Amino acid sequence: MSVTTARALHTLLRESDRETLRAILGDRVRFDEPLAPYTSWKIGGPADALAMVENEDELAQLLRFCLRRRMAWWIIGAGSNVLVGDGGVRGIVVRLAGDFAAVRVHADDGRVVVDAGGSADMALVTAKAASAGAEGIGSLAGIPGTIGGSLRMNAGTDREIGEFVREVWVQSPSRPGTHRASVQYLYRQSTLARDVVVSRVVLDFAGSSERNVRSEMQGRLVRRKRTQPIALPNAGSCFRNPPGDKAARLIEAAGAKGWREGGAEVSPLHANFINNLGSATAKDVATLLARVRRAVRDRWNVELKLEVHLVGVFIDAT
Ligand SMILES: Cc1cc2nc3c(=O)[nH]c(=O)nc-3n(C[C@H](O)[C@H](O)[C@H](O)COP(=O)(O)OP(=O)(O)OC[C@H]3O[C@@H](n4cnc5c(N)ncnc54)[C@H](O)[C@@H]3O)c2cc1C
Repeated sequence: MSVTTARALHTLLRESDRETLRAILGDRVRFDEPLAPYTSWKIGGPADALAMVENEDELAQLLRFCLRRRMAWWIIGAGSNVLVGDGGVRGIVVRLAGDFAAVRVHADDGRVVVDAGGSADMALVTAKAASAGAEGIGSLAGIPGTIGGSLRMNAGTDREIGEFVREVWVQSPSRPGTHRASVQYLYRQSTLARDVVVSRVVLDFAGSSERNVRSEMQGRLVRRKRTQPIALPNAGSCFRNPPGDKAARLIEAAGAKGWREGGAEVSPLHANFINNLGSATAKDVATLLARVRRAVRDRWNVELKLEVHLVGVFIDAT
């Protein structure tokens, strides 16, 4: 974590930048917008600008502006796997909406094809795919987020989204305008370049019976409710599982369940989750993450790696 300087908290935007952003997005750009409401942890300071982009053309214009001005930018999905620093994010935070939320499903020679915009809600994607009998969609059921964020994270359970990908469409500042990308999928990560926005994803499933798919999905959702604190603000599993083991098991056995730091708590239900009990700051969560990691290292000699992405300015000084 970095100690904050006044410079790290100072906006990167000039008045002329604000005017350009308003010209592209109208009132869908908000300045000095707190990011906490846009994350599942409900934590995070302000973005210099939060840009809600509704179609490919707007996205291309915005990315061209970022390139021309060498402006820092970052894309947020549903914010369900990120810890945003209390000092917020300098530059532009991009959030897809409008056309990008669309989900279309069709049959193709006995297979089920899901064509979704980059901000499509995974709950809608999985519900529509299940109705069409997409075999394997149950493994993605109950994972909060957008399809773009899920693709970058290669989200999943026993099966991951990457296994079902047919096409990925992206834009980037160096190549605005939608085009196809080739991506490899690894455990909770992908080779998607850091400076690309996923604007559309096409998934492809074997066809099965709707009844079987729905009942498998239902079983998984019930299990999730029983084993995860889904009613509290958190970001799911904080650490990746180390090879051959479970991070939750190591954390629990290191005695960390229920540990608190300010308003943050290691979940008593699932040791790899950290809950915001209402007033947690990013600093509380980051401090708890460091304590948990140290405890697991001391007890098991295992170095846990973060699954959640840390973004923005973290403030050390109180
Ligand atoms: C209760 C709970 C349970 C969870 N269970 C699971 C689980 O079982 N399995 C699992 O894998 N994860 C799980 N997660 C984590 C999270 O839901 C997934 O990682 C999800 O796919 C993240 O999607 P998002 O849209 O919220 O991405 P964000 O958190 O907004 O972003 C994650 C990363 O993706 C990038 N990103 C977002 N959108 C785009 C885009 N359009 N183009 C390019 N990059 C983008 C962001 O910059 C960031 O680096 C859980 C989270 C919660 C809160």
